[in-house]
Amino acid sequence: MQSKKRIPVLLYHRIDREAEAEFRPFCVDPDAFEAQMAWLAGEGFATISLAQLQDHYTNGADVPERPIVITFDDGYFCNYSRAYPIMQKHGFAGTIFLATDLMRQPSPAVESRESFMTWQEIAEMHSAGFAFEAHGCSHRALTSISLDEVAREARESKQLIESELDKTVRYFCYPYSQYNDRIIDIIADSGYKGACGGPPFWDDGPHNWYEIGRTEILWSDNLKQFRFKIRHGLGYYYFTKRQLGKIKKKIKL
Ligand SMILES: [Zn+2]
Repeated sequence: MQSKKRIPVLLYHRIDREAEAEFRPFCVDPDAFEAQMAWLAGEGFATISLAQLQDHYTNGADVPERPIVITFDDGYFCNYSRAYPIMQKHGFAGTIFLATDLMRQPSPAVESRESFMTWQEIAEMHSAGFAFEAHGCSHRALTSISLDEVAREARESKQLIESELDKTVRYFCYPYSQYNDRIIDIIADSGYKGACGGPPFWDDGPHNWYEIGRTEILWSDNLKQFRFKIRHGLGYYYFTKRQLGKIKKKIKL
């Protein structure tokens, strides 16, 4: 059994050059994304799935020397048109959380913030090694709907992805990272082995498998900031805040 590694789990939404400032925070420019993937490849990173990550932390299963999980939320068309070819070039495979009501009917593709993937495009990426997991159906915050509705969204998004791709869906992602203990219980009872939400974790894996924290990569991150996030899990601002918090705690003791 090898010792546990720190495994970064990245979060992206759209790989797009967004003209409108209010939608930009959840986009990464395609050229910046290309540079980020090239840097990871050059550093010897290899992508793994959440199942491999969990198996490593829980059972000590082997992972590559420098493992990383690259996730995308919602299922935007640009994940297929832009992220997929760039990642394939480096032998990378990502994990995509689908909000299943949003998937596009087969129709000519347009690059826009309202453009999602078709099941055919999803199936193609799945055959190429990408993992597809559930992000609910309607993309409503689960804390804003009844617990019955939460259970329905958890169940139906899982079933639909499973029937479209003929695979077992084991991971969930809370829309807007909104959840509480009751919601965690429902997700666990719905057959999921884990869920993404909460702040990034450190060396020994997530403290709770239903709170797998991720490092979000933003439009404003240059390559230096990206590398800092890979190394420390957090951006400069949150890293500094956390360090100050630790120092304050020490001083009190
Ligand atoms: Zn989302």
